Amino acid sequence: MVDQAKKMVADIRNWHGVGPKMMERLSSLGIKSIADLLFHLPLRYEDRTQLSTFDQFKEGVSVLFCGQIERGYVQQGGRRQLLCDVVNASGSLQLRFFHFHDQQRRSLTRVGQRVLCFGQVRFFSGRWMMVHPNYQLLTDNQSIPLLSHYTAVYPTCSGLSQNRWQKLVSQALKCVNDFDCLPDLLPDSVLQAYGWSDLQSSLRAVHQPDKNIDLLSLQSSRHPAVRRLAFEELLAQRLAMSLRRSRHQDYAAMPLVLNENILNKFLQQLPFELTDAQARVVNDIFQDMSEPIPMLRLLQGDVGSGKTLVAAIAMLCAASCGVQAALMVPTELLAEQHAKRLQLLMAPMGFTVGCLLGKHSAKERRSCLQSLKNGELLLVVGTHTLFQKQVEFKRLVLTIIDEQHRFGVHQRLAFWKKSKSDSSIAHQLIMTATPIPRTLAMTAYADLDTSVIDQMPLGRKPVKTCVLDINRMEDVLERIRVYIKSGMQVYWVCTRIEAEDEGVGAAVDRYQYLSKMLPSCSVALIHGQMDGDNKAKVMQQFISAEVSVLVATTVIEVGVDVANANVIIIENAERLGLAQLHQLRGRVGRSDAQAHCLLMFHGPLGQVAHDRLQTMREHNDGFVIAQRDLALRGPGEVLGLRQSGEINLRLAHLLRDHDLLESVELVANELMADKDVRVDQLINRWLGQVIDCQQV
Ligand code: ADP
Ligand code: MG
Repeated sequence: MVDQAKKMVADIRNWHGVGPKMMERLSSLGIKSIADLLFHLPLRYEDRTQLSTFDQFKEGVSVLFCGQIERGYVQQGGRRQLLCDVVNASGSLQLRFFHFHDQQRRSLTRVGQRVLCFGQVRFFSGRWMMVHPNYQLLTDNQSIPLLSHYTAVYPTCSGLSQNRWQKLVSQALKCVNDFDCLPDLLPDSVLQAYGWSDLQSSLRAVHQPDKNIDLLSLQSSRHPAVRRLAFEELLAQRLAMSLRRSRHQDYAAMPLVLNENILNKFLQQLPFELTDAQARVVNDIFQDMSEPIPMLRLLQGDVGSGKTLVAAIAMLCAASCGVQAALMVPTELLAEQHAKRLQLLMAPMGFTVGCLLGKHSAKERRSCLQSLKNGELLLVVGTHTLFQKQVEFKRLVLTIIDEQHRFGVHQRLAFWKKSKSDSSIAHQLIMTATPIPRTLAMTAYADLDTSVIDQMPLGRKPVKTCVLDINRMEDVLERIRVYIKSGMQVYWVCTRIEAEDEGVGAAVDRYQYLSKMLPSCSVALIHGQMDGDNKAKVMQQFISAEVSVLVATTVIEVGVDVANANVIIIENAERLGLAQLHQLRGRVGRSDAQAHCLLMFHGPLGQVAHDRLQTMREHNDGFVIAQRDLALRGPGEVLGLRQSGEINLRLAHLLRDHDLLESVELVANELMADKDVRVDQLINRWLGQVIDCQQV
């Protein structure tokens, strides 16, 4: 067949019955091609390969049953319904329809009519019934159409029936078979090593599984056919990341070296020494930045492990070479705090740190923008405002992102692109408090090198955590009075109850209550709907210890650092996920004093919430908490991968399939090294394109 004609049939838009409406529905599920269609896997399977007899019925189980209509009638009174008794030698079953049209009524009340029906059976009022079954009328001598394979049930959207799916998938499978439009792209060695079959048979096994298949293993995605598909997808993902990395490393970068005297002077002004882990990570970064190719490094470190200082040293390195560095953070509160802290550290070194925020007026921004453009200002901190059009740098050579999980891949690349000139680009450092198991990092962040701060500053004690019912408020207040008497400061965090207000209402109420109940303490309120200046003022009062209890919404979740605050109360802790609880708790325990965290909940607790709070009480280590979180929610959620667009898997599952990842990496490296044509083909098939800083 000529290529042109082959292209025609392989394009689902040209299929019979696939009009613009249908295409729209399919697109809403991300389906545009035959491959997309076939990578949209069934949710579960139904067995229409064999008939069941009356004595095999089990509550809630779907069965195929064939018999003759003994009686059919419309019941009036109460809810109008069409009832139809179907009998065969094994027994009788009642079909029930609450919605039906005239033609259905006529055919289903015809005594003696043969019917084949499929649906869940329920035992009700002393008999077995099926509500709104699938059914088919059979003529007297027609043989019963039993399928030779299980029937797939697909995740769908409105307007796309299961029937329609089955037809589309059959057509796709036929097309693949007749025109070979989905050639096998996995190396033979992989198929052999795992004993997998080719793509076509794997797809058929998944969509139209033969009745002899091990259905359990298929449904739990352990079947070789599913694993083969997952491998291919993980490989495509991994290749896309490698390609992105290699494209980025085609750029040049300015080598940066920090003079030892300057570094020593900087370190001497600190009230403490770097931890070994910080020193090691700083070395990794120096090593990278001294090269004429851009650094691409992910820095992982638990909450409170001291990532900001590492960022500061990298920024110092840029400034002392006379070029610019920019630090991007997710919230204005955090930007201001970082700018202040960095300013304190940099002033003795003779450098100024600017701060660019969305809330600043055009006038306030102008001078900062001006000095970034002419190069007078070397260091700047900001929110996503940093990659806006108006922001121009004279020579941006280092970009740093804090709390990377709060940004999407597009934002990360847009920020980086700010530094791009003809052939050169900035060194890039990305920081996260989410500890990522190595195999996951290999896939999710394969385009980055990783460093880990696996050690807390000396003298830190684990935060003592306890879990309390909200009706123990009196006890909590009593404890707070004691803490404050001994000079501690307290965060009181209210979580959101209604989606719209992010907890502001609850925080305002709690603020008023605490002001009344703790008359001798100074209580203040901070939340996301306050304007930036007010927020900064309150924060300043808390830092200077004028305020002893800070009632807050989760605006304080990321990054906020007040060493003297050693108690945190989190209300409605049962509503929060582990990652967020850990981040919040990380606001305390930032000095060598003993810190406390009280998690208050509204009972009764569900099992999952109970497990989460228990995990928090028992563990302080972010790595352990992340592992639990991964098990509870899965990596897409935990790492924010789905939202951020960093990685979006259709059918593979990073946890379930993690045992494939090592091998995926090996194969990816081989294909990349050979510049194999399959690299592009695989990426195309699964992802469409590679996102890099050219595309944002
Ligand atoms: P995170 O990694 O969560 O961003 P921060 O950078 O905010 O942590 O650091 C937490 C606190 O620890 C800060 O108050 C910081 O000054 C302090 N700190 C950082 N490094 C050290 C160190 N080596 N020794 C003691 N304290 C440190
Ligand atoms: Mg931080």
